[in-house]
Amino acid sequence: MRRTATRACTVPEDITVFERGWLSANCVLLTGPHGATLVDTGYASDANATQAWLTRALQAQGHTLRRILNTHLHSDHCGGNALLQAHMADLETLVPADNYTAARAWDEEALSFRRTGQHCPRFVADGALQAGDRLTLGSGSWQVLAAPGHDNAMLMLFEPTRRILISADALWPNGIGVIFPEIEGVAGFAPMAQTLSLIEQLQPRLVIPGHGSPFTDVPAALAAARRRLEHFARHPQRHAHFAAKVLVKFRLIEWRRIQRSALHDWAQQIPYLRRLHVLEAADAAGPFHTWLDGIIDALVRAGAATTDSDGWVLDQ
Ligand SMILES: [Zn+2]
Repeated sequence: MRRTATRACTVPEDITVFERGWLSANCVLLTGPHGATLVDTGYASDANATQAWLTRALQAQGHTLRRILNTHLHSDHCGGNALLQAHMADLETLVPADNYTAARAWDEEALSFRRTGQHCPRFVADGALQAGDRLTLGSGSWQVLAAPGHDNAMLMLFEPTRRILISADALWPNGIGVIFPEIEGVAGFAPMAQTLSLIEQLQPRLVIPGHGSPFTDVPAALAAARRRLEHFARHPQRHAHFAAKVLVKFRLIEWRRIQRSALHDWAQQIPYLRRLHVLEAADAAGPFHTWLDGIIDALVRAGAATTDSDGWVLDQ
């Protein structure tokens, strides 16, 4: 057994976890007799760090990378694909089946990057990953499982012998992510509840999440996720407020600091933020710019941002 790349509980020898912050999702390298596979590649602005970590890990284990798997096509999970494809020969990239056609065509409307205002360099999707597929990864045989809710195309990977779950953004050590389908008026809360029930039935002994440290206390994580999900399902306006904070904070991490006026100019262009303003009771929240200032104020109150007298909004 070996520790993850940074900290937290041990993971088996054939799995190496590159635990990231929140801009990039965790990257999971699985090595074995059938070669090396990387699950998710982080955000574009961290791609050089992803490549450097991956090169070191592959050299240490005497492997070359054969395959990239993306659990879902959010920019923080597939933003490193293009750089790795440019530097590594004979690499096969598999994406969730529901995203395959849009990724092949690089259909900006169907992919999430424009709607979220996030950046993802174009990459080539070579094949589709389907729920029900079985893959030999590392030294195990893994099941591909549908995990709708956060993203209705999202997939998880489960290795039943050792009961290891790569949960993507379906289950984190604490809390849940944005339920993105709800922003577009598509059911997400109920599918997310079903995904959490599926995880409970699997009884994983080890969960490697998309964000945060690998963990073993699955009942506690499920309880926290369910509490949060039920709160959002009862109060969709609070979910909209939360989602807006997440989208603004995400870009703030990347910018580090930005003039409030430039942040407003950016936000006006982002379809999801305009929609979230409407969802969070546009009448009560006032015009878009007032609402956005409220989101910035909420981030400041939460200790996630600061502002100064020169008009800067700073990541915290
Ligand atoms: Zn995600």
